[in-house]
Amino acid sequence: MKEFDYIILGGGLSGLSLAYHMHKLGCLQYKTLCILEKRNKYDRDKNWSYWDFDNNLFSKCVIKSWNKFNVIWKNQKLDIDCKHSPYRTIDSKKFYNFILQNLNKNKNIKIVNNCKILNIKKNIIKTNKDLFLGKIIFDSLVKTKPSKSSIYQHFFGVEIETKKEVFNKKILDLMNFDCKQDNGLHFFYILPFTNKKALIETTWYSNKIKTRREYQDEIQTYLELHNIEGKITFTEFGVIPLNFQNTNYATNIHVPIGTAGNLTRLSTGYTFQAIQTFSQSLALSLKQYKKIIIPSARPKKYNFLDEILLHVIRNNPKRMPSIFFNLFKKNNPKTIINFLTDRSNFIEDIKIISTMPIILFTKTLFQYVLRWKK
Ligand SMILES: Cc1cc2nc3c(=O)[nH]c(=O)nc-3n(C[C@H](O)[C@H](O)[C@H](O)COP(=O)(O)OP(=O)(O)OC[C@H]3O[C@@H](n4cnc5c(N)ncnc54)[C@H](O)[C@@H]3O)c2cc1C
Repeated sequence: MKEFDYIILGGGLSGLSLAYHMHKLGCLQYKTLCILEKRNKYDRDKNWSYWDFDNNLFSKCVIKSWNKFNVIWKNQKLDIDCKHSPYRTIDSKKFYNFILQNLNKNKNIKIVNNCKILNIKKNIIKTNKDLFLGKIIFDSLVKTKPSKSSIYQHFFGVEIETKKEVFNKKILDLMNFDCKQDNGLHFFYILPFTNKKALIETTWYSNKIKTRREYQDEIQTYLELHNIEGKITFTEFGVIPLNFQNTNYATNIHVPIGTAGNLTRLSTGYTFQAIQTFSQSLALSLKQYKKIIIPSARPKKYNFLDEILLHVIRNNPKRMPSIFFNLFKKNNPKTIINFLTDRSNFIEDIKIISTMPIILFTKTLFQYVLRWKK
């Protein structure tokens, strides 16, 4: 059996981020850490985008930052400024390499790849390689299965390089609702890295994952409609279940992190920034107080508001494009971004809520309360 002070289960975004912040803050000078990861190598598997409030902490991994974004519906385009918190995209491969280079400098950190975790009993981890014993376990393995009523954010994207300048690299399309809206909420998400290269993503909120062919057809339709021709250099597929993770197993020596620790914002699927905030603050508590103080994922109000919003999306997907469009139209960018990134104050919450259709949301609130009481 191999023994460590800390063991991180899963060396993905949250596992590597936590190890990085612990290492950076000097929590691992006299303590040992082991990361158990089933992958044998790290490839570019996704892009992480987020509104940055952290002063470009991972500047070496950022492939593009924007100070403006669009929201589009029925050919109307909102041009929204986000200079105060630029929208950035990180290439996952650059991120993995950057973090691993840093972690490899610390002889107290061991990363075990090709290591499949088979079961966890208290602080003993059984894997295909060995038994591991940790004083504290940080666990990023998702255990909760989505329920029948869950909806997913599911998306498929292609990175395309064109000969002609067909994109505007200065502004991204956060949500373009001018596409078919059936059996769910649908929009296109476009990240123009240059005027000749962009990630074009078809994104759905619904309870049914599509076939690859269906997503590809949607992308093809978009390309034809916008006269875009080019070479596909990367594809991205993702399914984010928008449900709470059961963390009943958590103790002060078995700490869920990442998506497994409910760090995914249910209404948006955004997780990157919450993982950084959580990891930094956990590492800081270790450094300052020599003990783990588990930070809360986010103020509870967001879970409640997101559940209501997801109810509305599930029952009224066709109304959502106008609801989102008006949300962005009627609020100032700072208010919305603060709300979307768990930073809004009470006044900002009220402003956001007051721009939602009051009857629809009140009705949904009652249905939600009745269901909860049963
Ligand atoms: C395609 C995609 C794009 C996304 N884009 C964004 C975005 O733009 N912005 C944003 O904020 N969020 C985004 N997300 C959501 C979220 O940020 C990511 O899912 C993020 O990777 C979650 O981090 P995590 O550590 O919880 O999970 P992961 O990064 O998935 O890490 C879990 C790790 O555990 C390992 N593992 C699993 N089972 C075992 C086992 N039995 N034994 C050993 N190892 C195991 C996995 O290999 C993986 O490395 C995206 C999600 C996806 C899927």
